[in-house]
Amino acid sequence: MDSQGPDLFPGYIGRFAPSPTGPLHFGSLVTALGSWLDARANKGTWLLRIEDIDPPREHPGAADSIIRTLDALGLHWDGDVVYQGQRLAYFDQALELLAKKQLVYRCICSRKSIRKISRKPGHTAGIYPGTCLRRTPENDQAHSLRIKTSGVRIEYTDRTYGELTENLATECGDFILKRRDGLHAYQLAVVVDDFRQAITHVVRGADLLDNTGRQAYLQSVLGYPRPVYMHLPVVLNSAGKKLSKQTGAHPLADTGLSDSLFSALTFLRQNPPAGLSKAPNTEILEWAVSNWRPSLIRHAGVA
Ligand code: GLU
Repeated sequence: MDSQGPDLFPGYIGRFAPSPTGPLHFGSLVTALGSWLDARANKGTWLLRIEDIDPPREHPGAADSIIRTLDALGLHWDGDVVYQGQRLAYFDQALELLAKKQLVYRCICSRKSIRKISRKPGHTAGIYPGTCLRRTPENDQAHSLRIKTSGVRIEYTDRTYGELTENLATECGDFILKRRDGLHAYQLAVVVDDFRQAITHVVRGADLLDNTGRQAYLQSVLGYPRPVYMHLPVVLNSAGKKLSKQTGAHPLADTGLSDSLFSALTFLRQNPPAGLSKAPNTEILEWAVSNWRPSLIRHAGVA
Protein backbone atom coordinates (compact mmCIF):
# COMPACT_ATOMS: atom_id res chain seq x y z
CA MET A 1 0.00 0.00 0.00
CA ASP A 2 1.23 3.50 -0.84
CA SER A 3 2.14 5.02 2.51
CA GLN A 4 0.54 8.33 1.51
CA GLY A 5 -2.55 6.78 -0.09
CA PRO A 6 -5.91 6.03 1.49
CA ASP A 7 -6.40 2.74 3.35
CA LEU A 8 -9.11 0.94 1.38
CA PHE A 9 -11.32 -1.58 3.13
CA PRO A 10 -14.20 -3.38 1.40
CA GLY A 11 -17.47 -3.88 3.33
CA TYR A 12 -16.65 -1.01 5.66
CA ILE A 13 -19.14 -0.20 8.46
CA GLY A 14 -18.12 2.64 10.75
CA ARG A 15 -19.85 4.65 13.41
CA PHE A 16 -19.81 7.79 15.49
CA ALA A 17 -20.88 7.07 19.05
CA PRO A 18 -21.14 10.24 21.13
CA SER A 19 -22.29 10.26 24.73
CA PRO A 20 -24.94 12.98 25.07
CA THR A 21 -23.07 14.92 27.74
CA GLY A 22 -23.18 18.22 25.84
CA PRO A 23 -23.40 19.76 22.37
CA LEU A 24 -20.82 19.03 19.68
CA HIS A 25 -17.62 21.09 20.11
CA PHE A 26 -14.42 21.30 18.09
CA GLY A 27 -12.94 18.18 19.75
CA SER A 28 -15.96 15.99 19.06
CA LEU A 29 -16.23 17.45 15.53
CA VAL A 30 -12.70 16.19 14.79
CA THR A 31 -13.77 12.67 15.80
CA ALA A 32 -17.05 12.82 13.91
CA LEU A 33 -15.35 14.18 10.78
CA GLY A 34 -12.47 11.67 10.90
CA SER A 35 -14.80 8.70 11.23
CA TRP A 36 -17.22 10.02 8.58
CA LEU A 37 -14.40 10.68 6.10
CA ASP A 38 -12.86 7.27 6.66
CA ALA A 39 -16.24 5.61 6.03
CA ARG A 40 -17.08 7.69 2.97
CA ALA A 41 -13.61 7.41 1.42
CA ASN A 42 -14.02 3.63 1.74
CA LYS A 43 -17.51 3.83 0.17
CA GLY A 44 -18.73 2.41 3.45
CA THR A 45 -21.66 2.83 5.81
CA TRP A 46 -21.54 5.34 8.67
CA LEU A 47 -23.85 4.79 11.63
CA LEU A 48 -24.78 7.20 14.41
CA ARG A 49 -25.19 5.72 17.88
CA ILE A 50 -26.08 7.86 20.86
CA GLU A 51 -24.47 6.29 23.93
CA ASP A 52 -27.07 7.31 26.48
CA ILE A 53 -26.42 4.72 29.18
CA ASP A 54 -25.22 7.03 31.94
CA PRO A 55 -28.11 9.41 32.73
CA PRO A 56 -26.34 11.17 35.64
CA ARG A 57 -23.65 12.40 33.19
CA GLU A 58 -26.06 13.33 30.42
CA HIS A 59 -27.39 16.72 29.53
CA PRO A 60 -31.03 17.23 28.52
CA GLY A 61 -31.29 18.09 24.84
CA ALA A 62 -27.65 17.15 24.09
CA ALA A 63 -28.53 14.19 21.84
CA ASP A 64 -30.87 16.30 19.71
CA SER A 65 -28.36 19.10 19.53
CA ILE A 66 -25.57 16.73 18.37
CA ILE A 67 -27.88 15.26 15.72
CA ARG A 68 -28.93 18.71 14.46
CA THR A 69 -25.33 19.92 14.24
CA LEU A 70 -24.12 16.82 12.38
CA ASP A 71 -26.94 17.31 9.93
CA ALA A 72 -26.16 21.01 9.47
CA LEU A 73 -22.48 20.16 8.91
CA GLY A 74 -23.46 17.72 6.15
CA LEU A 75 -22.12 14.72 8.10
CA HIS A 76 -25.10 12.54 7.21
CA TRP A 77 -25.41 9.06 8.68
CA ASP A 78 -26.98 5.93 7.24
CA GLY A 79 -30.19 4.41 8.64
CA ASP A 80 -31.84 5.37 11.90
CA VAL A 81 -30.05 6.83 14.88
CA VAL A 82 -29.55 4.10 17.47
CA TYR A 83 -30.00 4.91 21.17
CA GLN A 84 -28.02 2.66 23.45
CA GLY A 85 -30.42 3.28 26.31
CA GLN A 86 -33.00 1.23 24.39
CA ARG A 87 -30.72 -1.78 24.09
CA LEU A 88 -30.05 -2.67 27.72
CA ALA A 89 -31.39 -6.23 27.32
CA TYR A 90 -28.55 -7.01 24.89
CA PHE A 91 -25.99 -5.95 27.47
CA ASP A 92 -27.58 -8.21 30.09
CA GLN A 93 -27.54 -11.12 27.64
CA ALA A 94 -23.80 -10.64 27.13
CA LEU A 95 -23.33 -10.50 30.90
CA GLU A 96 -25.16 -13.80 31.28
CA LEU A 97 -22.88 -15.40 28.73
CA LEU A 98 -19.81 -14.13 30.58
CA ALA A 99 -21.26 -15.36 33.89
CA LYS A 100 -21.78 -18.82 32.35
CA LYS A 101 -18.12 -18.81 31.41
CA GLN A 102 -17.37 -17.95 35.05
CA LEU A 103 -15.58 -14.79 34.07
CA VAL A 104 -17.72 -12.41 36.12
CA TYR A 105 -17.93 -11.87 39.87
CA ARG A 106 -19.86 -9.70 42.27
CA CYS A 107 -17.98 -6.90 43.97
CA ILE A 108 -19.22 -5.02 47.02
CA CYS A 109 -16.17 -2.81 47.50
CA SER A 110 -16.69 0.92 47.70
CA ARG A 111 -14.40 3.28 45.79
CA LYS A 112 -13.07 4.49 49.11
CA SER A 113 -12.12 1.01 50.32
CA ILE A 114 -10.47 0.21 46.97
CA ARG A 115 -8.43 3.42 47.15
CA LYS A 116 -7.33 2.54 50.67
CA ILE A 117 -6.21 -1.00 49.84
CA SER A 118 -4.58 -0.15 46.53
CA ARG A 119 -2.35 2.39 48.28
CA LYS A 120 -0.82 -0.37 50.44
CA PRO A 121 2.53 -1.93 49.51
CA GLY A 122 2.25 -4.65 46.89
CA HIS A 123 -0.72 -2.96 45.20
CA THR A 124 -0.93 -0.52 42.31
CA ALA A 125 -2.98 2.64 42.75
CA GLY A 126 -6.12 2.50 40.63
CA ILE A 127 -5.95 -1.27 40.07
CA TYR A 128 -8.70 -3.26 41.75
CA PRO A 129 -6.93 -5.50 44.30
CA GLY A 130 -9.29 -8.44 43.70
CA THR A 131 -10.75 -8.41 47.21
CA CYS A 132 -14.13 -9.81 46.14
CA LEU A 133 -12.57 -12.59 44.10
CA ARG A 134 -11.81 -14.22 47.41
CA ARG A 135 -15.26 -13.80 49.01
CA THR A 136 -18.83 -14.45 47.94
CA PRO A 137 -21.08 -11.48 48.58
CA GLU A 138 -24.77 -12.23 49.15
CA ASN A 139 -27.04 -11.71 46.16
CA ASP A 140 -29.00 -9.00 47.94
CA GLN A 141 -25.94 -6.93 48.81
CA ALA A 142 -25.54 -3.94 46.49
CA HIS A 143 -22.79 -5.00 44.11
CA SER A 144 -21.11 -4.24 40.84
CA LEU A 145 -20.06 -6.95 38.38
CA ARG A 146 -16.41 -7.25 37.44
CA ILE A 147 -14.65 -9.35 34.85
CA LYS A 148 -11.55 -11.41 35.69
CA THR A 149 -8.43 -10.30 33.87
CA SER A 150 -5.78 -12.47 35.50
CA GLY A 151 -3.02 -13.33 33.01
CA VAL A 152 -4.74 -11.59 30.08
CA ARG A 153 -2.38 -10.08 27.56
CA ILE A 154 -3.87 -8.31 24.55
CA GLU A 155 -2.05 -7.36 21.40
CA TYR A 156 -3.63 -5.19 18.77
CA THR A 157 -2.72 -2.91 15.92
CA ASP A 158 -4.00 0.63 15.74
CA ARG A 159 -3.93 2.33 12.33
CA THR A 160 -2.43 5.46 13.89
CA TYR A 161 -0.40 4.18 16.81
CA GLY A 162 0.82 0.84 15.42
CA GLU A 163 1.39 -2.37 17.38
CA LEU A 164 0.29 -2.18 21.02
CA THR A 165 0.27 -4.65 23.89
CA GLU A 166 -1.62 -4.48 27.16
CA ASN A 167 -1.33 -6.70 30.20
CA LEU A 168 -4.82 -6.19 31.52
CA ALA A 169 -4.27 -7.52 35.03
CA THR A 170 -1.40 -5.15 35.78
CA GLU A 171 -2.38 -2.16 33.65
CA CYS A 172 -6.09 -2.01 34.36
CA GLY A 173 -7.21 -4.85 36.62
CA ASP A 174 -10.60 -6.56 36.87
CA PHE A 175 -12.89 -3.92 35.43
CA ILE A 176 -16.55 -3.20 35.99
CA LEU A 177 -19.17 -4.36 33.49
CA LYS A 178 -22.24 -3.33 35.48
CA ARG A 179 -22.14 -0.70 38.16
CA ARG A 180 -23.52 -0.97 41.65
CA ASP A 181 -26.26 1.54 40.67
CA GLY A 182 -27.41 -0.89 37.96
CA LEU A 183 -25.98 1.04 35.00
CA HIS A 184 -24.05 -0.88 32.37
CA ALA A 185 -20.45 0.12 31.89
CA TYR A 186 -19.30 1.77 28.68
CA GLN A 187 -16.81 -1.09 28.00
CA LEU A 188 -19.57 -3.68 27.84
CA ALA A 189 -22.13 -1.59 25.97
CA VAL A 190 -19.70 -0.39 23.31
CA VAL A 191 -18.47 -3.92 22.57
CA VAL A 192 -21.97 -5.41 22.38
CA ASP A 193 -23.25 -2.66 20.11
CA ASP A 194 -20.20 -2.59 17.87
CA PHE A 195 -20.85 -6.30 17.36
CA ARG A 196 -24.63 -6.04 16.94
CA GLN A 197 -24.21 -3.22 14.44
CA ALA A 198 -21.54 -5.25 12.62
CA ILE A 199 -19.02 -2.43 12.92
CA THR A 200 -15.85 -3.24 10.99
CA HIS A 201 -13.96 0.01 11.71
CA VAL A 202 -13.78 2.16 14.82
CA VAL A 203 -12.35 5.66 14.40
CA ARG A 204 -12.38 7.69 17.62
CA GLY A 205 -10.33 9.96 19.87
CA ALA A 206 -7.01 8.80 21.29
CA ASP A 207 -8.34 9.46 24.81
CA LEU A 208 -10.02 6.05 24.31
CA LEU A 209 -6.88 4.28 23.07
CA ASP A 210 -6.21 2.64 26.44
CA ASN A 211 -9.78 1.26 26.52
CA THR A 212 -9.11 -0.81 23.41
CA GLY A 213 -7.36 -3.64 25.27
CA ARG A 214 -10.38 -4.12 27.53
CA GLN A 215 -12.71 -4.05 24.56
CA ALA A 216 -10.58 -6.51 22.57
CA TYR A 217 -10.60 -8.85 25.57
CA LEU A 218 -14.40 -8.68 25.85
CA GLN A 219 -14.69 -9.33 22.11
CA SER A 220 -12.50 -12.39 22.40
CA VAL A 221 -14.37 -13.92 25.36
CA LEU A 222 -17.77 -13.14 23.82
CA GLY A 223 -16.69 -14.66 20.49
CA TYR A 224 -17.08 -11.39 18.56
CA PRO A 225 -14.77 -10.35 15.72
CA ARG A 226 -12.46 -7.43 16.49
CA PRO A 227 -13.01 -4.28 14.43
CA VAL A 228 -10.04 -2.38 13.00
CA TYR A 229 -9.18 0.52 15.29
CA MET A 230 -7.87 3.93 14.42
CA HIS A 231 -7.43 6.58 17.09
CA LEU A 232 -7.26 10.24 16.22
CA PRO A 233 -5.15 12.75 18.13
CA VAL A 234 -7.24 14.69 20.64
CA VAL A 235 -7.70 18.43 20.61
CA LEU A 236 -6.20 20.07 23.69
CA ASN A 237 -7.16 23.38 25.29
CA SER A 238 -4.62 26.09 26.10
CA ALA A 239 -3.85 24.36 29.42
CA GLY A 240 -2.96 21.13 27.60
CA LYS A 241 -6.15 19.35 28.72
CA LYS A 242 -8.40 17.40 26.35
CA LEU A 243 -11.03 19.75 25.01
CA SER A 244 -14.38 18.80 26.53
CA LYS A 245 -17.39 20.45 28.05
CA GLN A 246 -15.69 20.19 31.46
CA THR A 247 -12.53 21.92 30.19
CA GLY A 248 -14.45 24.82 28.69
CA ALA A 249 -15.11 23.76 25.07
CA HIS A 250 -17.54 26.05 23.28
CA PRO A 251 -20.42 24.45 21.37
CA LEU A 252 -19.96 24.81 17.59
CA ALA A 253 -21.66 27.97 16.38
CA ASP A 254 -24.32 27.42 13.70
CA THR A 255 -22.98 30.36 11.73
CA GLY A 256 -19.36 29.18 11.53
CA LEU A 257 -19.75 25.52 10.63
CA SER A 258 -17.74 25.63 7.40
CA ASP A 259 -14.86 27.36 9.25
CA SER A 260 -15.02 24.61 11.86
CA LEU A 261 -14.91 21.92 9.17
CA PHE A 262 -11.91 23.57 7.54
CA SER A 263 -10.10 23.84 10.88
CA ALA A 264 -10.92 20.22 11.75
CA LEU A 265 -9.42 19.09 8.42
CA THR A 266 -6.32 21.11 9.16
CA PHE A 267 -6.13 19.55 12.63
CA LEU A 268 -6.35 16.11 10.96
CA ARG A 269 -3.29 17.07 8.83
CA GLN A 270 -5.23 16.86 5.57
CA ASN A 271 -3.73 20.12 4.24
CA PRO A 272 -6.91 21.56 2.70
CA PRO A 273 -6.11 24.23 0.08
CA ALA A 274 -6.54 27.76 1.46
CA GLY A 275 -9.08 28.55 -1.28
CA LEU A 276 -11.45 26.02 0.29
CA SER A 277 -11.69 27.90 3.56
CA LYS A 278 -14.67 30.00 2.50
CA ALA A 279 -16.37 27.26 0.47
CA PRO A 280 -19.76 25.79 1.44
CA ASN A 281 -19.76 22.69 3.67
CA THR A 282 -20.63 20.32 0.82
CA GLU A 283 -17.66 21.47 -1.22
CA ILE A 284 -15.27 21.14 1.71
CA LEU A 285 -16.56 17.64 2.44
CA GLU A 286 -16.36 16.55 -1.20
CA TRP A 287 -12.74 17.66 -1.35
CA ALA A 288 -12.02 15.95 1.97
CA VAL A 289 -13.50 12.59 0.92
CA SER A 290 -11.55 12.51 -2.34
CA ASN A 291 -8.35 13.55 -0.61
CA TRP A 292 -8.65 11.62 2.68
CA ARG A 293 -5.19 10.44 3.73
CA PRO A 294 -5.22 8.78 7.18
CA SER A 295 -1.50 8.14 6.68
CA LEU A 296 -0.87 11.87 7.13
CA ILE A 297 -2.12 11.56 10.73
CA ARG A 298 -0.03 8.43 11.23
CA HIS A 299 3.10 10.13 9.92
CA ALA A 300 2.63 13.32 11.89
CA GLY A 301 4.22 11.91 15.04
CA VAL A 302 1.01 11.92 17.02
CA ALA A 303 1.93 9.56 19.85
N1 GLU B 1 -19.36 7.42 23.84
C1 GLU B 1 -17.94 7.62 23.87
C2 GLU B 1 -17.62 9.08 24.03
O1 GLU B 1 -18.44 9.93 23.67
C3 GLU B 1 -17.25 7.14 22.62
C4 GLU B 1 -17.32 5.69 22.43
C5 GLU B 1 -16.45 5.13 21.33
O2 GLU B 1 -16.27 5.77 20.30
O3 GLU B 1 -15.98 4.02 21.50
O4 GLU B 1 -16.54 9.40 24.48
